[in-house]
Amino acid sequence: MAGPLLVVNSGSSSLKLALFKDDLETPVVSALAERLGTREARAVLKDAARTTIPLPEQAGHHAAVEALVSTLHRLEWLPNAPRGIGHRVVHGGERFKASARIDASVAADIEACAALAPLHNPANLEGIHLLQTLFPNTPQVAVFDTAFHQTLPEHAYLYALPREWYERCGVRRYGFHGTSHLYILQQTAKRLGKPPEETSLISAHLGNGCSVAAIANGRSRDTSMGFTPLEGLVMGTRSGDIDPGLFDLFRREGLQSDQITALLNHQSGLLGLSGLSNDMRTLVEAERDGHTGAKVAIGVFCFRLARYIGAMMSSLEQLDALVFTGGIGENSPEVRKRTLSHLKLLGFDVDETSNADHGHQRAGAIHTGGSRRILVIPTNEESIIARDTQYFLDSDNRHS
Ligand code: ADP
Repeated sequence: MAGPLLVVNSGSSSLKLALFKDDLETPVVSALAERLGTREARAVLKDAARTTIPLPEQAGHHAAVEALVSTLHRLEWLPNAPRGIGHRVVHGGERFKASARIDASVAADIEACAALAPLHNPANLEGIHLLQTLFPNTPQVAVFDTAFHQTLPEHAYLYALPREWYERCGVRRYGFHGTSHLYILQQTAKRLGKPPEETSLISAHLGNGCSVAAIANGRSRDTSMGFTPLEGLVMGTRSGDIDPGLFDLFRREGLQSDQITALLNHQSGLLGLSGLSNDMRTLVEAERDGHTGAKVAIGVFCFRLARYIGAMMSSLEQLDALVFTGGIGENSPEVRKRTLSHLKLLGFDVDETSNADHGHQRAGAIHTGGSRRILVIPTNEESIIARDTQYFLDSDNRHS
């Protein structure tokens, strides 16, 4: 019997594996290794018992993949080799407008894109190489966070810089979270009973990373992230938009370029503003207990989000729905309510009861009768990766 599909999300310090059998919406089991390369490296199987997976001290990606895969073998979730492996790859540049079957030339192109995403693509590539070593005969597919946004028009993707920066170095807005925005498009279309190519929405993916996308008739037309995932909204530890003029001040204050990168990527956002945490749940609770930093952080987060939702309207001729997703979007009625309070003039009005009801990953509508449609829909990036991988396997079968 053909083995399950394996979906791999290899981040800089984490590794997530998910196994799918016939149902490509819900994994039969998944496993997560975190804090890799540190003394706190740990791994857990997301089964009913939340089985801890032993890791060697300071385990890196290599040790983690071996430990996770051998646990999946031992517990018979993965009795033989997977039938296909799908990898999340953060940056596909302008080269990848869709998912790709991985061969030597695709791997080389992903490596070339690492110059655009030095914080992300090397870890994705490492995951690809490790799985190729473990399962040399299994087809592997790369699914790119950037691919869905390759339909952005020039006026949305160009920065107002001398054009040679785009031509020589590929400096432009790429956008990320494409698999999530695509999944939300498909689910919204399904809910509304329309074909995706006739569905227009604003998708707000609010997790540790946050982005919004304007999707017109099934195609991404604008999004808040840019050349890297740093641009746009306030995020867990990322600043989102700041004035580039600040770089002079940072340098005068003695920061080297890697320190500026760390400041903007790891010490800013909700964490930097609150001085407390990058975790929205912690901040919502702290605000209730009177923590001023938490209140300020949530306030800036919601206002920036509302401002971007307003900006996304300029790319649409009609709007079927504004959709909230991601850990915060799915679970935080407070964030949704506060964001929507800035958007009354644009016709968004939240229904307090249904907003509170949809606080626990339940899909549903949260708008009043006179409002534009506002939905909460849980995202499922793994499902898109599993389906794209299966698509390549099916087309291999058709051609064999
Ligand atoms: P990632 O981008 O790592 O996949 P998630 O989509 O899981 O992240 O989102 C993580 C964020 O969701 C965290 O800020 C977390 O606090 C927030 N979150 C999860 N549950 C709740 C909740 N009940 N209320 C507010 N925020 C929540």
